[in-house]
Amino acid sequence: MRPARARGSARRRGSCPPERHGCLRRCTTARLPLHDRPPPSPRSPVTSSQIIVLATPLFLAAIAFEWALGAARGRNTYRLADAFASIGAGALSQTSGVLVRAFTVGVYALAYEHLALWRLPGDAWWVWLAALLGYDLCYYAYHRAGHRVAVLWAAHAVHHQSEDYNLSTALRQTSSGFVFGWVFYLPLALLGVPPPVFGAVALVDLLYQFWVHTQQIGRLGWFDRWFCAPSNHRVHHAVNERYVDRNYGGILIVWDRLFGTFVEEDDAEPCVYGTRTPLASWNPLWANLQVYRELARDAWHARSWADKLRLWWMPPGWRPVDLAASQPRPAFDIARLVRYDPPLPRRAAWAAALLFAAMLAASAALLWNAQRWSGTAAAAGVLAIAALLWAIASVSARRTGAAAPSERLGTR
Ligand SMILES: [Zn+2]
Ligand SMILES: [Zn+2]
Repeated sequence: MRPARARGSARRRGSCPPERHGCLRRCTTARLPLHDRPPPSPRSPVTSSQIIVLATPLFLAAIAFEWALGAARGRNTYRLADAFASIGAGALSQTSGVLVRAFTVGVYALAYEHLALWRLPGDAWWVWLAALLGYDLCYYAYHRAGHRVAVLWAAHAVHHQSEDYNLSTALRQTSSGFVFGWVFYLPLALLGVPPPVFGAVALVDLLYQFWVHTQQIGRLGWFDRWFCAPSNHRVHHAVNERYVDRNYGGILIVWDRLFGTFVEEDDAEPCVYGTRTPLASWNPLWANLQVYRELARDAWHARSWADKLRLWWMPPGWRPVDLAASQPRPAFDIARLVRYDPPLPRRAAWAAALLFAAMLAASAALLWNAQRWSGTAAAAGVLAIAALLWAIASVSARRTGAAAPSERLGTR
């Protein structure tokens, strides 16, 4: 451990150690706003956004392989529009994340700078291992809260709204998780995990979870008891009474076994995927707003101010007594679930595919060059990507053609 006193020397030299600002590159101008920094030198390590760009062809190749394997086995788990919507939600999450990175990186770096009890050495292997374990435990707490606190569920629900379960579902990530997510990782800053180590283990934890989103891999024996794996994560995405709100672990499923939230997949009860209040849309923008709108509407109509504030922090589905009486919602009934599946004519599929390719290219350009672009240019890029996502959703489903099962179904 490095005492907090040692940090002064770097300041006096007029440069700063990279861990001070949470950037992955060596940084001598970190006080400048994002758009004023010079372009990275050719030998600079890549940013986390660039790692996502580099990983994207691998994600898409794995998705294509899983689709082909499913087709060959007669168990295809893909629908084109659903996969576009899930990958689109991931693109929106990553690109909008560029706009708030100063906040997400800055909060952790600030906490590390001012609150760390000590400084752990960023070049010791045991620090990386302990940081990964610590991060995974914080992730468990964050993820569990994300299912049990309404306003956190509003952000996390995006990951669960797909009624399919395949590798594209893994990329379906929220764009608003940054608002409260940082709170759950503060313990790592307090314990002196350097920001670059924190950033790296966060990426490892996220990337690990990609492969578990598949129905093509069955049980894995002892592995399922220790690690998050396809079988126990399928359970996590299911709305069945037996499975709902279980198996929160990111890399280790041990946390669920320790804290009593583990349930094993039962072949006698197949998983039904999605959320209890179906999204009934292919639009990633609406996916990010659905639960917030429900909460805002309830807050507006609730009579007492205490309830108007309380409902954001209660478990999802909780409603004030007066509201439950005046605007009742039917209890969730899995037998009445209607899967959102509007017809997708061939011409519409081709149009959606072309728009999707443009959206992917724009996202890759933004993520790769984010460090060089001004904040205004990045914001304009995110708006253009949002417009493309809206267009993809619009051509993938006729506005009046699809049923809206969410109006008839449960409270979550
Ligand atoms: Zn979840
Ligand atoms: Zn998942």
